[in-house]
Amino acid sequence: MNPQPMHTPDAARTTAGKPVTKVPLLDLTRIDPQQLAELRAAFDRVLVSGHYIMGPEVEAFEKEVAALLGANHAIGVSSGTDALILALMSLGIGPGDEVICPTYTFFATAGSIWRVGAKPVFVDSDPLTYNATIDTIAKAVTSKTKAIMPVYLFGQCADMESITAFAAERKIAVIEDAAQALTARSRGKAAGTIGTFGCFSFFPSKNLGCLGDGGLVTTQDAALAEKARILRVHGGKPKYYHKMVGGNFRIDALQAALLRVKLPALAAATSARQCNAALYAELFAKAGVAAKTPASPAPGTIGLPGIHGDHIVNQYVIRVPGGRRDAVKDALGKKNVGTEVYYPVPLHLQECFASLGHREGQFPHAERAAKETLALPVFPELSTDEVRYVADAVIAAAKGAS
Ligand SMILES: *Cc1c(COP(=O)(O)O)cnc(C)c1O
Repeated sequence: MNPQPMHTPDAARTTAGKPVTKVPLLDLTRIDPQQLAELRAAFDRVLVSGHYIMGPEVEAFEKEVAALLGANHAIGVSSGTDALILALMSLGIGPGDEVICPTYTFFATAGSIWRVGAKPVFVDSDPLTYNATIDTIAKAVTSKTKAIMPVYLFGQCADMESITAFAAERKIAVIEDAAQALTARSRGKAAGTIGTFGCFSFFPSKNLGCLGDGGLVTTQDAALAEKARILRVHGGKPKYYHKMVGGNFRIDALQAALLRVKLPALAAATSARQCNAALYAELFAKAGVAAKTPASPAPGTIGLPGIHGDHIVNQYVIRVPGGRRDAVKDALGKKNVGTEVYYPVPLHLQECFASLGHREGQFPHAERAAKETLALPVFPELSTDEVRYVADAVIAAAKGAS
């Protein structure tokens, strides 16, 4: 499929013939004019309805996103972080329990485990996909392990066949942190329909972003879905009668209405991301900078992401070896190319988790990834000229010619 840059209400965009001079990591203002009108209409609809909490927009969004994923139950929540917390609470996970998660991930993965009073048990990641693998997970299991929380980092599922089989054998829950991977698939199954719970984020930088914070919990289990729905509204059912202590984990009706506008456009946006990624790979290969061994690139080359099947490319992350990542980032910055380091400090080395007693060197793949990875602009509305501009800048910097 061709990348179809959706376009853009104002003139600050690259158009054919106009040379590219800068490319942001993400530009949320490039909104297709038709979508812009639909978003405004959705806003008006909610505004005059007076129905701002729960209600028909939330119910309709949940139905639509459940249908898209093939999930039995979808529960709109206040953020991806709250989705993880709600999943953990619904499983009754708390003090004395352990949850296995990768150390190389966004903070909320382990933060949510910590906040329910459980212990995050960190594991290393695969150097090609940056996801946790069954070997390391299997070694981390103890009698206290209540759940495994694999993360689908950058938009690609972990090896879920081995993880779910392992968990099922031991009656351990699987909470998919699919915050970066809405509509990614693992062997035909949509992220969020594979584990006990799936957790998603609609933070604006995610592949489906709302206009603020929002998230989603999915499950195939009716009883767990019911419990999560009750915990979402303080644990009261009927209202004001509490057998459980929950929280306020509701998604806004307004955000649900806005997401309903964006949801039908997600497939085309994903194709555009994948086309941008494919173009990068082609340009890097042509220039001779694509490493033959991407997990450990030779000097002067870069490691391209290990894409197995269904990567929705929420982020396009390259690996720069030899301690040159920050120099390459600076060189790109000088050419006005926006980049980001996801993530500079693996979670086992975060100060707030010092009491867990981890040390440097414990998870070498994660620690090396934190020093070598760099995310390039890959958002769907990029023009091919912009992708070429970024690629040229990366190639020059990788060769040290910047
Ligand atoms: C974004 C993200 C979250 C948290 O989502 P929020 O909506 O920002 O709370 C959790 N895990 C991962 C892997 C993420 O990327």
